Amino acid sequence: MTRESSAADLTERLHIVLYANDEDFASWHDTIQDWVGGEAYPSLGLTAQIVPDRSDEWIRDVIPHEVAHLFFYQATYSPLGSYPPSWLDEGYATYHEVAPHGYELRRVRDAAAAGELIPLRLATGSFSGDEARVNLLYAESLSAVTFLYEKWGEQGVAQLLEAFRQGSNEDEALLEVTGLDFEGFQQAWWEWLGGAPGAYPTPPWQALQATSPPTAQPATVARIAEWAKKVEGRGFVLVPVTMVAIKAKSS
Ligand SMILES: [Zn+2]
Repeated sequence: MTRESSAADLTERLHIVLYANDEDFASWHDTIQDWVGGEAYPSLGLTAQIVPDRSDEWIRDVIPHEVAHLFFYQATYSPLGSYPPSWLDEGYATYHEVAPHGYELRRVRDAAAAGELIPLRLATGSFSGDEARVNLLYAESLSAVTFLYEKWGEQGVAQLLEAFRQGSNEDEALLEVTGLDFEGFQQAWWEWLGGAPGAYPTPPWQALQATSPPTAQPATVARIAEWAKKVEGRGFVLVPVTMVAIKAKSS
């Protein structure tokens, strides 16, 4: 069902369980959020999905997406415990949806041009924040994976997955296949998006560390709060900013 894409073969059979409606799906859960459309259990090679009534589009996109996740897990699983970053996992799954993704790819180019790109380094763990931020994280993941395919091809992506399976971490795996470590890869992606060479936007915590004085005055706290508010609207993570603000208050 998924586009043929990687040299690695599946080691375990995949299972897709389809539910006709929310009630059936919910019946084997103690509690379930009503926005959940399905679940994946990569280590079991299992995905359980609710198929809504009008399901053409859904079957075209959600099933390949979920199967790609299951495939990705098997192709990268390492007993050494290194796990690929979410941008690669989600980008890979989204890339294998059948629907065209011109809109998402354009959205990322626009975000780059407007200085609103979320550093790829933050596209780890489960994506969180408001809807716009989560959508941009998915779109950036797709964009970075599309860049991988365009530049290094099917074989490069297959080698990258294999490097994770061999226990490499993100830097090592990228270096092995692309000749670039993560920072270098991010810079190359940025330039592919139309960014100026060498000008990848500085992650906000670095900018903060570089500008905040050793002893924070009340005015500084206000300035940080103001800056944080500005940055928050652009989808950046606020934790380091909040920490500095709290520290400044208690000193
Ligand atoms: Zn996904």
